Amino acid sequence: MPDSTFASIGLSTDIVRVLTAQGIHSPFQIQTRAIPAALAGSDVLAKAPTGSGKTLAFAIPIVQLTSPGDGRPAALVLVPTRELAVQVTEVLADLGRAKGLEVASVYGGVPIPAQAAKAKRAHVLVATPGRLQDLMDRRMVNLDAVTILVLDEADRMLDMGFKPQVDKILRRVSNKRQTMFFSATLDGAVGELAREYTNQPVRIAAELPSEQKPGEIDHQFVAVTADNKVDKLVELLQEERGLALVFVRTKRGADRLAQRLERHQVRAVAMHGDKTQAAREKALAHFEAGKVTTLIATDVAARGLDLSDITHVINFDPPEDEKAYTHRVGRTGRAGRSGTGVTLVLPDQQAEVSRVARMNGQSDAWEETGMKSAAPKLLYSGRKRGSKWGPTRPRRKI
Ligand code: ADP
Ligand code: MG
Repeated sequence: MPDSTFASIGLSTDIVRVLTAQGIHSPFQIQTRAIPAALAGSDVLAKAPTGSGKTLAFAIPIVQLTSPGDGRPAALVLVPTRELAVQVTEVLADLGRAKGLEVASVYGGVPIPAQAAKAKRAHVLVATPGRLQDLMDRRMVNLDAVTILVLDEADRMLDMGFKPQVDKILRRVSNKRQTMFFSATLDGAVGELAREYTNQPVRIAAELPSEQKPGEIDHQFVAVTADNKVDKLVELLQEERGLALVFVRTKRGADRLAQRLERHQVRAVAMHGDKTQAAREKALAHFEAGKVTTLIATDVAARGLDLSDITHVINFDPPEDEKAYTHRVGRTGRAGRSGTGVTLVLPDQQAEVSRVARMNGQSDAWEETGMKSAAPKLLYSGRKRGSKWGPTRPRRKI
């Protein structure tokens, strides 16, 4: 359906007007497919990659189907992280304003009373599972009137261990509801969850719109020592670039690195789960606006961060595995732009990182560095790959 418009897939004129004002003129594939099903009241299982436009695919139907009549939440969106809660709340609030809909978010790290008071009378709630369950247990929010339930990034929610809270919340929301899952994958545990909590769902899969396809990413691996690691980072940060996201392993590591960079006259902000919500939002806002062009983050803190101006992702501490590498470096090269991913590698990390590089098909970039590679396990596992003599054994001294 190349020619579908927001009007042709059933949007009301007031919502089309808000979108147009935001420069959003035609629906992405996931929206063309999911919105009509959602507006028709069906349960929806939607699988689409990051950046494909899932937020509007559920936000538009929620706003169009919800009226401000009842002073209790009528729609609930569960999200895995506070950052995502903030982003999704913004999108819903912008759309909902035209209809007088109140949108509130519920997440940990901020005082409960004010949050609960807003949540209680909002029409649409966006919540992380942990804090929502907390409010439900304290009877500070009532979900009896919820008729639309969305699980955004359902796969991440399970990855992060929220299954017990999600189960509890889903069981407490009336089962005369419409349920929609949005996820990068619907395999495994998330597929099971979807089967359990949806009713004859319409299944949808969509690709990234061409303008959102990832751009070319230059993968670099750089040998460093404990003594010159920070200097190397400073050098990289002084190159011509846009925003740089620097990954570290621990929260303390993030703070420490920010201080060390400060001593080298490089301004950087650290973002991690121990900071207050206000501090995290401030750090992110400064970074987004380009006031501070270096953000230091842990894997968890960077979840859901989607900024098209990130030109460099730097692994100050190497990622845990190839999946983590992809998550991290995928924060650059967004929206068709090119990007650079640099991994700093200490001598004792070479074997491990060489494996990550190989698993991700970056063996060439690795070989160029001249660093040592982990021996492929295959060589030791039997007679394979043309080995005439079978497994190599240490030679016995004669
Ligand atoms: P996902 O949740 O699938 O990762 P998002 O909903 O965050 O993706 O959307 C990714 C980006 O695409 C956002 O910046 C969003 O504003 C933009 N976007 C979404 N739909 C459209 C559209 N129809 N036209 C133009 N931009 C869009
Ligand atoms: Mg999303």
